Amino acid sequence: MNTLQAVFLDLDGTLYNGQYKIEYAERLIQRLRLAGIPFLFLTNNSSRTPQMVAEHLCELGIEAHASEVYNSAQAAATYVSEQWRERQSAEQQAAQATTLRPPRVYCIGEIGMRTALLDAGAELISEEATHTPDFVVQGIDRQLTYDKLKRAVQHILQGATFVLTNPDLLLPWNQQFVPGAGSIGAMLEAATGVKPVVIGKPSPIIMRYALAKLHVSSFAEVLMVGDNLRTDIAAAHAVGCRSALVLTGVAQAHNVDALMADSGVTPDAIYPDLQSLADAWLPQSQRKETDVL
Ligand SMILES: [Mg+2]
Repeated sequence: MNTLQAVFLDLDGTLYNGQYKIEYAERLIQRLRLAGIPFLFLTNNSSRTPQMVAEHLCELGIEAHASEVYNSAQAAATYVSEQWRERQSAEQQAAQATTLRPPRVYCIGEIGMRTALLDAGAELISEEATHTPDFVVQGIDRQLTYDKLKRAVQHILQGATFVLTNPDLLLPWNQQFVPGAGSIGAMLEAATGVKPVVIGKPSPIIMRYALAKLHVSSFAEVLMVGDNLRTDIAAAHAVGCRSALVLTGVAQAHNVDALMADSGVTPDAIYPDLQSLADAWLPQSQRKETDVL
């Protein structure tokens, strides 16, 4: 058995597919808890609050708490506050000013994104606001309109920092694909010529904040588990985590070789399902599987 200090777990395609739990997901979490191994549910999805994500997991029979969830909306909000503090302290020193104001943010996003920004102390500017915000933060927005795009483009062209929650171009949805946050970001990038700061996997930014949240000292102690080579496994490579690909979502037995060739990304290990992953990395529980189920 390998030594395992901490785990980051992707959600969609790894523990569930939309409304369906992936087989053995609840047991994997039980076994992590039993072994006392700290873990985080680490998702690029910015649409829901951690509380909503935890509730969804619980509805599927997977025990989860909001404090165990970390998403690209929280990471984007942390990034904005961090950048803003740095910028303000530089300006403060230059002007010897004493008051800090909150960062002004124009947000294209859903409740998860807006809540994370407000929780981090940002001021969300309205559609009618005429002044330029400090940041444009953009995630998935299923109520996207041309007006929102227009305002975001104008703000970015006037100098607002463009922050993108996650680069996923497509999202699996009811056996089909729909445009993800990355597709909206691509429109803004095409219109403005400005490349966004990308926060979610494969960016190291979300990984650094996740490590700090879990109070683990080094990425070398972390195993990243996910179904997507281009996000989960690439993120692990970017920061030096070990990585395990599960063939339960984007990557499956029939396409994994092609996906690896396409992406040029190779995980440290590949497992056909969550039980084989758990058996490889976790101690067997004292009780028999059937006692617990
Ligand atoms: Mg996934």
